[in-house]
Amino acid sequence: MDLKYTRKNVYKEADGKELEKIYSFAEGYKKFLDSSKTERDAAVTAKKLAEEQGFKPFSFSEKLKAGDKRYFINRHKNVFLIKVGTEDVAKDGVRIMVAHVDSPRLDLKPNPMFEDSGLCYLKTHYYGGIKKYQWTALPLALHGVVMLRGGERKEICVGEDENDPIFYITDILPHLGAEQSAKPLGKAIDGESLNAVIGGLPSVEDEEDKEAVKTAVLNLLNKKYGFTEVDLQCSELCFVPAGKARDVGFDGALISAYGHDDKVCAYPEMCALFDSNSPHTLVAVFADKEEVGSDGTTGMQSKVISDVIETIAASFGANPIEVRYNSKCISADVTAAYDPAFASAYEKRNTTFINCGAAVSKYTGARGKSSTNDADAEFMGWIRDIFEDNGVYWQTGELGAVDIGGGGTVAKFIANLGIDTVDVGVPVLSMHAPYELISKADVYSLYKACLAFCK
Ligand code: MN
Ligand code: MN
Repeated sequence: MDLKYTRKNVYKEADGKELEKIYSFAEGYKKFLDSSKTERDAAVTAKKLAEEQGFKPFSFSEKLKAGDKRYFINRHKNVFLIKVGTEDVAKDGVRIMVAHVDSPRLDLKPNPMFEDSGLCYLKTHYYGGIKKYQWTALPLALHGVVMLRGGERKEICVGEDENDPIFYITDILPHLGAEQSAKPLGKAIDGESLNAVIGGLPSVEDEEDKEAVKTAVLNLLNKKYGFTEVDLQCSELCFVPAGKARDVGFDGALISAYGHDDKVCAYPEMCALFDSNSPHTLVAVFADKEEVGSDGTTGMQSKVISDVIETIAASFGANPIEVRYNSKCISADVTAAYDPAFASAYEKRNTTFINCGAAVSKYTGARGKSSTNDADAEFMGWIRDIFEDNGVYWQTGELGAVDIGGGGTVAKFIANLGIDTVDVGVPVLSMHAPYELISKADVYSLYKACLAFCK
């Protein structure tokens, strides 16, 4: 019997066979990431993968039966994957796994385009919690949709193919940067200076044209996509870091990529739902708008999750209240891994470490545990038992030291429905940076945790 608790390093515990599984799972994850940079991209990827698994479109008026596999894409951005089990849903409830697929980025303003000093730019309004200085002088790609007059929808993705151009936000050179360097880090780059260069070749049609570069760029866009400047007012376009997920370290034990938060949880929950032969009814959710408060039609505060549960309940003539109260949920989101370079931000006994498995957080929040779900001891005990019974490596920790800061997840919105919920995720280094860092051992551990939860 171990009297004392010690955190285990998954790589140290894994044998050769397990190590192979960890590395091969990571290959699938990197592919998923590369095609899922925004919530819209993730929804397209999830639909494709679900269809390959035999999933069919879901309808709120349909009568589901055991064995049915359904997907529901809510407004292009919010995914529900449903696998109907053989257990009585009234007594057994639904096993729900939720992760979000939106990530911090730079959205375009409604009137974004301007020309200044021979260059054409797009103005941005940042989405989610970013450190603005990290978004200058790096290659950016443009993703999203533009609606043309009359309802035609144009999808845009420029900057991901190696033959594509990329976009670029400038910074001041160090030679002239003394004034900037004297500012606090958070003020070094102004939000209104996050303007991306999108062109430099002037049109020669009209010598009087004071915005000849903008004219030329609009001409190019009109030829390629058929839109004009005003159509940008009915668009959702954003800049994200260009490029693919890459292995990190000589041993490739880690992965650096844009948007691990929270695709690093969405991918394992989806794979677990696909791979599980569970008798329980399973629902996996890809949520949108988590980074800005989970509001709106596609965020986790929307009623859609209840509507899906009610549809499942109605299919079996079950009371939807009873189904909800007997349901269980893993709210899968990332947490801050201990970083020795910034040791004072953490409390070492109560933080998660990279390579040490799935991160279970009883609560998140800030300032005296405010604004959080706090999983009760009974549910923590239940989750511990299923993890240990199924050989899942897991650890627990808080998001940083007391009163240093904090953060929240969607867990509280699901718990507010009367559903037992706990945060289980992956520890991340450099969270919310253009390129974040995670361990292959941890994303695989979350996959095993989700499989155990489904079982
Ligand atoms: Mn997150
Ligand atoms: Mn986040």
